Order: sequence, then C-alpha cells, then structure tokens
Amino acid sequence: MTNGLLLVFSGPSGVGKDTVLHELLHQNESVRLSVSATTRAPRPGEVDGKDYYFVTRERFQEMMAQGEMLEYAEYCGNYYGTPAGPVRDWQKKGYDVILEIEVQGGAQIQEKNPDCVSVFLLPPSLEVLESRLRHRASDSEEVIQKRMESACGEILEAKHYDYLIVNDTVDHAVGQICSILCAEKLRFSRADANIERMLNYAKTIK
Ligand code: 5GP
Repeated sequence: MTNGLLLVFSGPSGVGKDTVLHELLHQNESVRLSVSATTRAPRPGEVDGKDYYFVTRERFQEMMAQGEMLEYAEYCGNYYGTPAGPVRDWQKKGYDVILEIEVQGGAQIQEKNPDCVSVFLLPPSLEVLESRLRHRASDSEEVIQKRMESACGEILEAKHYDYLIVNDTVDHAVGQICSILCAEKLRFSRADANIERMLNYAKTIK
C-alpha cells in the first residue's frame, strides 16, 4: 500500500483553520487530523485526547527528550508539538495526515520531510481578519492590535508554503484542499509499484 501524504496546514489565528478542517474531515474519509500535545490549559469545551493532549511541561519535555515529537514550538508562552507515532501509523495505513500547526513547526516538518505538502490559509483581506479577531473575544484594543501584529507576522511566512488558499467560503477552501491532495498523489515522484513495473517493462520493449 502507498503511504498517505503528510500535509502541513497553517494560517494566522482567526483565519478559520478549524472550521475548514472540520468540514474537510467530514467530507473525506481518507484524511486524519493529528492531535497535538500542548502545555496550555484546556479552553471550555475542549476534550483531552480529542482537541489536544493536555500535558504538563515536565511530560512535554520528556516526550521531546525521548524523540516522540515530529516537531514542536513555543507559542504564546506554551509548548505545542506533534506526537510522531499516530502520524506515522496512519500514513502507513494509507491515510493522508494533516498537521494543523503554526509556522515554526511547519518549517521543521518541511525541513525533515521534503516530500510533505504545505498549505497556508489566508483571510480574504486583513480587514476581514481583524473583524474576525474582534468578534472572537472581548479583548482590549491593545490586545487586538497585538493579535493583528502576530497574525501579520505569520502571514509573512506564507512564502515558505507550497500552496496558498484564501478562505473566502469554507466549501471553496475545502474543495481546494481536496484538489491539492488529488494532484499531489498524481506526481511522478509518487508513482506506485504498478506504474513503476509498467515503466520498467516499457524500457525492455523500447
Ligand atoms: P491554540 O492555542 O489557539 O489552540 O493554538 C495556537 C497555535 O498553535 C495555532 O496556530 C495552532 O495551529 C498551533 N499548534 C497547534 N498544535 C500545534 C503543534 O503540534 N505544533 C505546532 N508547532 N503548533 C501547533
């Protein structure tokens, strides 16, 4: 069986990554979403083992030291990382695995896994992003400005990604991710054993 793809999915806070991925998983049975470990506290409604593995800093450092993380980063004072085991197991079973991670982690995955596919989700405009951040939480003007600055810093990292998608509507964004997965599987470099056999056989005839 051919291994599934490893897809890095990033975008600034407030762009709508969770909504897009929720719909993608709903529509596509061959896709799995990696559950990250984090040292941040759960938000209301978040479930341990589903949204994140909520761990102590000591446990997180132990996982890092034992090489259990595919990547990790410190973001807003907390650690976030991708446990390697489930990702590798799913890929071996042929599932395409999505890592919804911030840009430092994205860079680590791209460096260590040159065959991964990276997708960056952009807002339709900075004005739309700012209005989403304003509606999301009742933060002070200063906090909102800080979030916008950090979002713009992340957006500037989009140049390191293979594909850019604008989240104008969820359906449109989901359709575009499906197209990317589909096209990536047709790359010559990912040709399966049957195709390789045919090409080798063709050589013997020519
Ligand atoms: P939040 O605390 O809002 O759930 O996530 C904050 C940021 O951390 C988001 O940009 C999210 O994509 C990122 N993130 C979540 N899990 C991981 C992970 O395993 N590794 C890295 N590098 N970033 C992550």
